[in-house]
Amino acid sequence: MATDTPPTAVAAASTLSPERLAALADGAVGGDDDPIDVTAPATTERVGRVPAAAADDVARAVETVRESSAGSAWADRPARERAAVLDRFADRVTEHRAELLDLLQLETGKSRRTAAEEILEVPMACQYLVGSGPAVVGDERRGAAIPGLTTATVTYDPVGVVGVISPWNYPMTLAAADVLPALLAGNGVVLKPDEKTPYTALALAELLEAAGLPEGVLTVVTGRGETAGPALVDHVDHVAFTGSTETGRAVAARAGQNLIDCSLELGGNNPLVVLADADLETAARGAVQACFSNAGQLCLSAERLYVVESVYDAFLEAFVRETDRLTLGTAYDYDADVGSLIDAAQLDRVRSHVDDARDRGATVETGGRHRPDVAPHCFEPTVLTDVESDATVACAETFGPVVSVTPVADADAAVTAANDSPYGLNASVWCGDTARGEAVARRIDCGTVCVNDGILSGWGARDAPMGGVGDSGIGRRHGPEGIRRFLEPRTVSVSRVGPFVFPDRVPTGWIVAGSLAAASGARRVSGAVRRATRRVKRTVSD
Ligand code: NAD
Repeated sequence: MATDTPPTAVAAASTLSPERLAALADGAVGGDDDPIDVTAPATTERVGRVPAAAADDVARAVETVRESSAGSAWADRPARERAAVLDRFADRVTEHRAELLDLLQLETGKSRRTAAEEILEVPMACQYLVGSGPAVVGDERRGAAIPGLTTATVTYDPVGVVGVISPWNYPMTLAAADVLPALLAGNGVVLKPDEKTPYTALALAELLEAAGLPEGVLTVVTGRGETAGPALVDHVDHVAFTGSTETGRAVAARAGQNLIDCSLELGGNNPLVVLADADLETAARGAVQACFSNAGQLCLSAERLYVVESVYDAFLEAFVRETDRLTLGTAYDYDADVGSLIDAAQLDRVRSHVDDARDRGATVETGGRHRPDVAPHCFEPTVLTDVESDATVACAETFGPVVSVTPVADADAAVTAANDSPYGLNASVWCGDTARGEAVARRIDCGTVCVNDGILSGWGARDAPMGGVGDSGIGRRHGPEGIRRFLEPRTVSVSRVGPFVFPDRVPTGWIVAGSLAAASGARRVSGAVRRATRRVKRTVSD
């Protein structure tokens, strides 16, 4: 899209131009549907146009990736060689960070600070995958049927072609969180980014190819969710989906019909608990980060705060004060903390949740206003109190800069309130006594619970699984679990003594009785060994 006067959102970014955006769009699989206009949330201008893949285009794209992966023997390369591509990719991301920051801001409207956090994420993800990934992908010895006489080895093969469907809120991080481990595991990948944020995905693919990924092993299809999404699920061997619970259910149903596996990272309505012995200033600062990063458009964001009564007033005062310090803006500089919401629909959702709470008697402690003077879809970080437990903001995910703060009698009441949700993605507990905090954390029904931190210590623990329970999804990203979902295990068992068949001359009844007695003896011996090991461990730790 070459024009004489580029849209102001493009012109203001030092690294971008209409020509560069058009070149990125050329990297997408061509599409038969009407092209998709891409809009800059910060100005609501159309900044570019990308192809829209129809169902047939998606089917062809998957087959092409399958052929390219086979042609380049991607799966047959040693895992260390594939990891080396990710290592070089991390360097490319660092080198090209200025353009990536601009692209992220252009198509999401987020503040540059938030965009920078997102870019920093990617080399950290690569570091884990490069260091630990090859061992996860390698063969594994498991307990044999008859130790000494037989062996059991698990080998891991890539599933084939992985379909990644990614959302708009963290278009770089959340695409990378699935694409990179899928590639490391030896798969081909077709990435379908959200239609609002195609350019970051296209830049990611470009940088991977520049880092040595064979051409065609990763392809980006830009397309509308309702057309390209189901077509992708119909043709790939695993689908890794990040998005809303509603769409996740449709993806899971379709994957089930096709008998393929899926991992689903869905919504959340995440609780944050402040116990009586917490350092309240630290907790307030941490809560602000956990609630309002990316204008609250973060699946891990805290939206429901439960504070033990004895410290409720003091925490609320500190929390509101810290919230008021946040600055709003979408400029391509590091001045602002909080940027724009993604579009008018998201703004409507945020406003309606605040209005509903207000209508039911909630108090707006700070915020609560649309700020078109900052950007057309900008909304102030908002703290609500006196929120009814059945208000929309308390029960449903807002996915915006709006949180409720509620007093609770004690830690038990906080756990009960935290668990009163169909979601179970992320939670945090703030306390002085971390052992007690950890005990409380273990009672919260979420895939991740951070103690004395909101999000980053859990998300940043790359070796530990991350994901949701209940309406927040199935499967895990990060850690060995996040790689193994893209692998098909095969058990290879070898008998050193030939086949286990009943000898002809021994009566079958004797063999059955002898085998059962041997199995029961083996159970007793292994039980005794387990108990003795526990005793030794206890003695050593005492
Ligand atoms: P969404 O479900 O509408 O869209 C997500 C992706 O799915 C997009 O790429 C979209 O094009 C695609 N899609 C849409 N319809 C589809 C269909 N029928 N079949 C297949 N794919 C389809 O999500 P959204 O509402 O735009 O995104 C916000 C939601 O994502 C929030 O609920 C948020 O909590 C969730 N989210 C979760 C995580 C996580 O890691 N758990 C991370 C980010 C966002």
